[in-house]
Amino acid sequence: MKLRDLSDHVEYRAGRGIEEVARDLGIDPEGLVKLASNENPHGPSPAAVEAIRETAPSVHSYPKASHTDLQSALADRWDLDDECVWLANGGDGALDYLARATLDPGDAVLVPDPGFAYYGMSAHFHHGRVRRYRIDREGGFSITADTVLSDYDGERVVYLTTPHNPTGSETTLSEIETIADRTDDRTLVIVDEAYGEYTDAESASTLLDDRDDVAVLRTFSKAYGLAGLRLGYALVPDDWADAYARVNTPFAASEIACRAGIAALDDDEHVQRTVETARWARSYLREELDVRTWSSGGNFVLAEVGDAAGVADRAQRAGVIVRDCSSFGLPDCVRITTGTREETRLAVETINEVVGA
Ligand SMILES: *Cc1c(COP(=O)(O)O)cnc(C)c1O
Repeated sequence: MKLRDLSDHVEYRAGRGIEEVARDLGIDPEGLVKLASNENPHGPSPAAVEAIRETAPSVHSYPKASHTDLQSALADRWDLDDECVWLANGGDGALDYLARATLDPGDAVLVPDPGFAYYGMSAHFHHGRVRRYRIDREGGFSITADTVLSDYDGERVVYLTTPHNPTGSETTLSEIETIADRTDDRTLVIVDEAYGEYTDAESASTLLDDRDDVAVLRTFSKAYGLAGLRLGYALVPDDWADAYARVNTPFAASEIACRAGIAALDDDEHVQRTVETARWARSYLREELDVRTWSSGGNFVLAEVGDAAGVADRAQRAGVIVRDCSSFGLPDCVRITTGTREETRLAVETINEVVGA
């Protein structure tokens, strides 16, 4: 028996975990600072942790009420109908639902380059073809309507990331609107706001009031500190109310995830503290690093360091794990997640030393 042809499918390579790296280097994981996966340096929302503990004795039941409750809580927050909130196993799971709901075999999608690998992967799973729009370093990696539309050729789905991973650049709401206006009626614009909490920019969810060609992606993995729990969602147009039940993996968001999500949503203190730290850290990184960096709306900063693989490797030996961006097509850049003040200072010291040596 043979699998289908998977040669077009790229493998997703996550930033390496502390335990793996420590084992390889034969050192204590306690001595490592991981700033490679845009995780929350303050840990999970404490309210979510408590909810997880309280939920443990009832995980023999399928998630039913909790799923509905989280959907309603999010619908209230975004001022949409409950049916417009598509809960999923992480933002990645929500990307799959959107691909399932839109792509016929052979349909093309347009993804940013550099950009988040899972857009293309998800499209491939659903027998889509992947085309790319180029984001220029010379243009400060900015993504405008022109950037996207000059490479647009009637694709079924266009992916935008704002703040953009791994560069940190942001696309204004009016540019997004222009993109949605100028693309075909049958083109969906997916606005990935995985880092939406870290910016002051208005969410594209407001466009859903009078458009049926935009969907917005959000996640609990970043600002809420729940990456290990796998909880995210898409906000979709009104007209799609019936589609969720047709594309949803049954119970894709677990009972624990839903209860934790409900608790985390009300934990304003944790999100505020998280965002404040990230804002401080991204300006510290930009001011103090001896290399070229770019303005970031997220919880990370892209830095041009020369040989990214070498720099990441030497930084790791010195105890700081950062993301080598070679796999994003940026072999001279690393992405540094904003840490606590202490971690961020250590990262700057280490990178400057490694680059200067
Ligand atoms: C982290 C991230 C996501 C979603 O991650 P999940 O953990 O699956 O919620 C989506 N898009 C981008 C650009 C990301 O960086």
